[in-house]
Amino acid sequence: MPYIQFLGAAGTVTGSKHLINTAGPGEGGFQALIDCGLFQGLKEWRERNWQDTPIPAREIDAVILTHAHLDHSGWIPRLMREGFGGPIYATPATLDLCRILLPDSGHLQEEEAEFHNKKKSSKHSPALPLYTREQAEQSLARFEPVGFGETKTLAPGLSFRFRRAAHILGSAMVEVTLESPGGPRTLLFTGDVGRVRDSEIAPGKVVVAGPETVENADLMVMESTYGNRLHPTSDPRGELAKLVRTTVGRGGSVVVPAFAVERTQKFLFMLKELMETGEIPRVPVHADSPMAIKAVEVFLKYSEEFSPQTKELVARFGSPLEWQGFHFDRTTEESKKLNDSAYPAVIISSSGMATGGRILHHLMHRLPDPRNLVLFIGFQAPGTRGAIIKSGAATVRIFSQEVPIRAQVAALEQFSDHADTPELLEWLRTFPKAPQVAYLVHGEPAAASRLRLAMTSALGWKVEVAEWMQKVEVR
Ligand SMILES: [Zn+2]
Repeated sequence: MPYIQFLGAAGTVTGSKHLINTAGPGEGGFQALIDCGLFQGLKEWRERNWQDTPIPAREIDAVILTHAHLDHSGWIPRLMREGFGGPIYATPATLDLCRILLPDSGHLQEEEAEFHNKKKSSKHSPALPLYTREQAEQSLARFEPVGFGETKTLAPGLSFRFRRAAHILGSAMVEVTLESPGGPRTLLFTGDVGRVRDSEIAPGKVVVAGPETVENADLMVMESTYGNRLHPTSDPRGELAKLVRTTVGRGGSVVVPAFAVERTQKFLFMLKELMETGEIPRVPVHADSPMAIKAVEVFLKYSEEFSPQTKELVARFGSPLEWQGFHFDRTTEESKKLNDSAYPAVIISSSGMATGGRILHHLMHRLPDPRNLVLFIGFQAPGTRGAIIKSGAATVRIFSQEVPIRAQVAALEQFSDHADTPELLEWLRTFPKAPQVAYLVHGEPAAASRLRLAMTSALGWKVEVAEWMQKVEVR
């Protein structure tokens, strides 16, 4: 009997890995892994990055990637290290984004290991990286682009196609057709589901809003990140302008931890717009990330995925790389020089949850000064430094030091690229019939169980919260 198995992102929002086996345990079926993400956040989860896959990596025949975010793609180089030898299928934009993200992830892994070796703060001696930059680069050779809507056959009785998920550039749902003893079955793996309506409900949305309407799903595996929260539907621009004006007015700088890909571009366009309309002063803006330049190039390459609003901004202002007063800092020296500047600036740097990267030295430097503002524009997973700072803590540990948090801390939740519960329900209502079962993954337990209740009562569907290692037969 074919089955699917949840190898990650069950009970948490990271480490997405869902296995499809076409035959059954020990019967030598084709095994495809939907997503191969890093666990991030709490130590309990991060430690899973170091465990072997529950099934040998060399027995996995293919990986199908929904989108480029590391919690979906970041374990690919490790899977290859463990012996995986198959192809990795992704949309062309996802592949281009992975070319930026995976080598950088390898670089961060190396840096972290080096740091532990210097400080002798690991129980392992020497501390080793999860994978290296070079290994991440090698894994890119295994990627094969598959366009949206194109049907790809993997094995007899197993094929898939990508459907638009409207989450980030290149993001897709995976619609799998699988031959089961009961006949052909359609399995829908949503990956991360984007905002459901247009810019009215998600201002500043880069990719066109609205996941595709799906004709049929016998079995569904869906994300539940925002299963227990509602996004504000207000326009964030007014609030953002006020925060920047107040901070600059008191001589402070705005530090924005943001994912270098897409979120940073979206934020840059919003700042540019506010500057051009005179709502914020023309202070220098630094996109301090070695990836930001490449990310802007990829971003501009796939303009067909943009929302009408983004198309208009790109047409009006052109490439952010050429805007006056906007700086893209390539080298560490350029980045460190920012610390010496006493003048107000906006500094956007990654990682978005302050788990590593250049943002750490900006935070270390700017958090103790009450004139500054630390502004969050993305989801902060429990256990990350971002979540600690956002929670109102008095101090946060950075580079083995307790750094006092005296800067103002604020968050704008409107930038989310995930549909919330009302939006998900709106999208699910477009399904012509209910799946046999919908499994919820990629959510904290409270979010997943809340969404389960909402779906059962609003739609009358059979919904279950997926458990780690749980196997589900496809009948
Ligand atoms: Zn994502």
